[in-house]
Amino acid sequence: MSTRQSMEFRAEAKQLLHLMTHSLYSHKEVFLRELVSNASDALDKLRFESLTNSAIKADAELAMRITVNADEKTVTISDNGIGMNREEIIDNLGTIARSGSKAFLEKMTGNDKADSNLIGQFGVGFYSVFMVAEKVRVITKRAGSDGTAIVWESDGVSSYTINDTERDGHGTDVVVYLKDEEKEFAQAWQVRSLIKKYSDFIVFPIYLPNDKGEAEVVNQTKPIWRRAASEVTAEQYDEFYQQALGGLGQKPLCSLHTNAEGVLEYSSLLYIPSQPPFGLFTSFERRHGVKLYVKRVFIMDECKELLPDYLRFVRGVVDSEDLPLNVSREILQKNAIMERISRALVSKTLGRLKEMAESDPKSYGEFWKNFGPVLKEGLHTDYENREKIQELLRFQSSMGDSADDLVSLKQYVGRMRDDQSDIYYITGESRDIVQKSPHLEVFRSKSIEVLYLVDPIDEWIINDLQSFEGKSLKSITGGALDLGALGKEEEEKREKAQGELRNLSERIKNILADSIEDVRVTARLKDSPACLVSGDHALGAHAEKLMKAMGQDVPVSKRILEINADHPIIRNMNARFEKAPTDPDLEQWVMLLYDGAMIAEGRMVADPLAYSKRVNEMLAKISMP
Ligand code: ADP
Repeated sequence: MSTRQSMEFRAEAKQLLHLMTHSLYSHKEVFLRELVSNASDALDKLRFESLTNSAIKADAELAMRITVNADEKTVTISDNGIGMNREEIIDNLGTIARSGSKAFLEKMTGNDKADSNLIGQFGVGFYSVFMVAEKVRVITKRAGSDGTAIVWESDGVSSYTINDTERDGHGTDVVVYLKDEEKEFAQAWQVRSLIKKYSDFIVFPIYLPNDKGEAEVVNQTKPIWRRAASEVTAEQYDEFYQQALGGLGQKPLCSLHTNAEGVLEYSSLLYIPSQPPFGLFTSFERRHGVKLYVKRVFIMDECKELLPDYLRFVRGVVDSEDLPLNVSREILQKNAIMERISRALVSKTLGRLKEMAESDPKSYGEFWKNFGPVLKEGLHTDYENREKIQELLRFQSSMGDSADDLVSLKQYVGRMRDDQSDIYYITGESRDIVQKSPHLEVFRSKSIEVLYLVDPIDEWIINDLQSFEGKSLKSITGGALDLGALGKEEEEKREKAQGELRNLSERIKNILADSIEDVRVTARLKDSPACLVSGDHALGAHAEKLMKAMGQDVPVSKRILEINADHPIIRNMNARFEKAPTDPDLEQWVMLLYDGAMIAEGRMVADPLAYSKRVNEMLAKISMP
């Protein structure tokens, strides 16, 4: 078989290559980070395979070596990792290997500056080398195969060649022939500073020649998570977050470093990000952010077994001494050690959040804004930690001046009126809508605080939150309002008015028979003439709306119209009714009353045209002075 092959890059790869060489002019230095990261992955793979495959032997030291040649304008990155065979090199370097590159292509804006930033964020891998190279030669030999070594070469335009060659042992050398204007990258000091900047936390030693020409390790090789917390500076924690965990240039809100010894032996370094990652809320992309290591050997990214879904925003590394090196996903799923580590991590994370909430409410507010809706899922899924999660909840409320003014359940209970025994809440679409709700009137007049549950998820978690410190949570829009001791006076007045307005109520009920279940005199309104409340066992109005939006069948539940006996409209209506019980104007008034109550809830009236006609007719009847 002829050993020399000349091949075309795949279309997508060509597109990416074209962008790399023609459109991107800043951040070119990241090519080194990408090559080093590939070498590190290759070393990880070799170490991992050598554990399970006896044909593969790792060298005594797994490392990478970088050499530069200023005269020839080359920089070479060599590793003694897994290497590639002929098929693999075609697959890996001739097509776009990873989804990150595809996402990158989709996000390209054509604006050089923005796109260079994108490179930094995504890491577009091997091809970024063509930002600085006029030619690249890769010499590689697959570990565990008797095959020959392969040399791959390309100018990054449209094609590449492959040929057989010689190499001592397995691993890969990437020789970068720099463009004339990029020759600075062939300076050792330059390479050294880039390693410090981008690759300091790579766990394998990176050798580079020093002034005397001796190879010297330039990165910190002891994994940061294995060091004592007292040995690590705040800057190093941040750097690690950026370099190894894809920090996207944003500082994390906090970090949490543990070296556990005793029954369980593990190190963990976890971070709470300041911004949510892409796709945090979509259920089909529940990506976790914690990497698993066993005895310093990298095992997997996005290890879902380490933390429950509701803590999926946590980024970091966990390194266990107790798990076997050859763990697989299947083993992890029902592994007792894993379960115990996970428990410990959950408890630490919740504890850290609590501490942040107490000592730094501003940061906690930021955390809550971004991740609160995710954390709330835990109320439903993590029974064991329910109380801890309850303490972490924050709500907007009728006592807050703005959406940033949040209250915890503990604070709420602490400032409850002495004669109040329940925690009141209202659910709805937004703060704007709920704070105007007529249902709040009586609470305002009595200075009773009402929590605003305005997250879509609130409607679902409220069932998991029936009480806090022995106080029940009560919706102010559902059923008959029972203010207990707080509403004694209102209740007496209400009963009296109910008797007086019995006939009018009956008439209203007849007029609205198709839309409502009943009419009763209210104790909850002060300024509005009427409002709608759910039947005592029906779904809330907001829940109904949400279910409809999700395309679910919602049983039609008629609601109850509550009228305010003190309101001039109701008083007038009653006077008119007593004089002429069948007055047709009364019918129009009642319809308007009902539509007005719908609008006050932020809903659409059933028949907008009929509604505006009715209003116009009424207005036309007003005689000008
Ligand atoms: P990524 O590393 O994200 O997969 P790259 O474009 O950087 O994307 O690399 C493509 C593939 O080429 C890698 O997944 C890997 O299989 C292979 N590869 C790159 N560099 C090396 C190397 N030094 N040793 C072995 N394989 C490598």
